[in-house]
Amino acid sequence: MAPSSPVKRIVIVGGVAAGATAAARARRENEDTEIIILERGPYVSFANCGLPFYFSGEVAHRSALLIQSPETLAERYRLDVRIGHEVLAVDRAARRVQVRLNEYAVPDGVPGSEFSLSWDRLILATGSQPVMPEIPGIAGPHCFRLCGMTDLDRLHAWLTEHKPRHALVLGGGLVGLEMAEALTRHGLQVKLVETAPAVLPSMDPEFSHAVAEAADQAGVETICGSTVLEIDQAHRIALVQTHRSEHPDNPAGAPRRLPADIVVVAAGVKAENRLAVECGLEIGPGGGVRVNRHLQSTVDEAVYVAGDLAEIPLRLTGQAGRLPLAGPAGRQGRVAGANAARSLLPKGGALESYPGALGIWVLRIFGMAVGSVGLTEKAAAALQIRAGAAIVHRTPRAAWMEPSGQISLKLVWDRDSGKLLGGQAIGTDGVDKRIDVLAAALAGKLGVRDLEQLDLSYAPPFNSAIDPLNYAAMVAVNDLDGRSPSVSPAEFLHRFDLKQDLVLDVRMPLECANGHIPGSLNIPVDELRGRHGEIPRDRRRLYIHCAAGFRAHLAVRLLSQLGFENVVNVSGGWMSLRHYFPAPQTRR
Ligand SMILES: Cc1cc2nc3c(=O)[nH]c(=O)nc-3n(C[C@H](O)[C@H](O)[C@H](O)COP(=O)(O)OP(=O)(O)OC[C@H]3O[C@@H](n4cnc5c(N)ncnc54)[C@H](O)[C@@H]3O)c2cc1C
Repeated sequence: MAPSSPVKRIVIVGGVAAGATAAARARRENEDTEIIILERGPYVSFANCGLPFYFSGEVAHRSALLIQSPETLAERYRLDVRIGHEVLAVDRAARRVQVRLNEYAVPDGVPGSEFSLSWDRLILATGSQPVMPEIPGIAGPHCFRLCGMTDLDRLHAWLTEHKPRHALVLGGGLVGLEMAEALTRHGLQVKLVETAPAVLPSMDPEFSHAVAEAADQAGVETICGSTVLEIDQAHRIALVQTHRSEHPDNPAGAPRRLPADIVVVAAGVKAENRLAVECGLEIGPGGGVRVNRHLQSTVDEAVYVAGDLAEIPLRLTGQAGRLPLAGPAGRQGRVAGANAARSLLPKGGALESYPGALGIWVLRIFGMAVGSVGLTEKAAAALQIRAGAAIVHRTPRAAWMEPSGQISLKLVWDRDSGKLLGGQAIGTDGVDKRIDVLAAALAGKLGVRDLEQLDLSYAPPFNSAIDPLNYAAMVAVNDLDGRSPSVSPAEFLHRFDLKQDLVLDVRMPLECANGHIPGSLNIPVDELRGRHGEIPRDRRRLYIHCAAGFRAHLAVRLLSQLGFENVVNVSGGWMSLRHYFPAPQTRR
């Protein structure tokens, strides 16, 4: 092994979210270590997450996204920050990295020159790289990805010079949606193509559909279940094939020709794992590096891994996976930095543990906020968990305050234990608050009964006296206790059998006229005491729904007490169901 320098050295590869955080924490833990950040790009510690907002014009100054510079990090933390320094290889046996300088290393370095550097502890924080689908034409000069300031600068420059009118966004995830909205702010006509059946495909369908609806209202056409076959720069079009199963009314299956003066690719990210793979670290199924609870690589304790590159415990499943998000990256950076630094202290030091992540995110899009934490209903189903789901549509503040706003909230919980599993929300405001409270509840392993009674703050400008989370938990507890059994729209659609079951719609006829489930029986809830004789008693199950859930709950309680069996509330009512029955139907 090559001799280490007498002063112990931590080398950090990647100097943005996890890397810069690790470096600063390492210095706070160990003043005597040499700490070197090697970053191949031109910037360290910049706000990747702010790129769509700078692009949209909402963040006025580019410099606002540059949180730290090599100079400020050197001054405050005595860090040796080297931009334009790409690590080519890691030699774990010799504890050295091979580094090549690129154009961003000027004026201090010679681009193309190489050197080797020893380390005592290595922190890999190389993040993710964007997925670029193999589509003919995707390398064209009018096609852009968004991974860092330089990509954004190119996009800005192209937009200013070419003044495109039609934009195509590939990918309906968080970044794709943010970029679609930002492009509309530049006055472009935007279409968004997503391969999955819906945008934000990790969410349950009611929420994905609501986002697509908001996009549509904002003038962004979302084309889901579709693949871009070819991008033709000369004719400024893209050929898009919608999969037959997604669009049965597309008999010829002919690809659409969509105008595409400019194409933004936001098709997801994969781990930037080349160095890790080549130096023999253990790679998990998600392509990230396997780590122990101290964020040390499972095959070499001197190598720490943090951020998008790490495969970390997912707290609700106990499995390991990648969560390419800034919050976990920063917190992992802190742990990796502290541990690398403490392990070099002469007397050593207790190592910190990283508990894993819940999987939480929030997004502001098309005038709405949308967020998710923990497991969705479909994720729970995939894990074969017997999950219940309670959907409510409420006002995020007192209903009589102007504007009272609107929020739709879904709780997912374990039918066997009553423990919370996750939640999703969409609305005009108050979404982040509910998702964050849920995160705390999940971290505390609370159940629906705890959430029902959780004290949450109230004054009319901020909340209803019963918070939407309390309310959703009440629905769940009523279900858990069998007082008012409910199913989610997805479960209803899965289980419903027209021959054996009946749908009772307890809304007013006028409400039903705007859309209803074909074959359903309509008796308004207030007429139910006088008209329950019209409901056949020979059905296997009676599914009841109203607009949002409350009237159906009243109907369930009444009919149960009148001796009807197997009476079930379809949670969320028509406001959630309508996403599955989009066109107004004619009652039989
Ligand atoms: C446009 C956009 C919007 C986002 N919005 C959100 C959001 O709203 N919320 C959220 O939670 N997350 C968001 N994210 C994700 C978040 O930015 C990432 O999860 C986070 O930056 C990951 O941190 P990291 O340190 O692991 O990687 P990064 O921040 O990507 O840093 C990795 C760095 O390593 C460098 N590097 C890689 N290989 C080498 C090498 N061989 N030598 C030297 N340097 C190397 C790279 O140049 C890069 O600068 C967004 C990401 C993007 C791109």
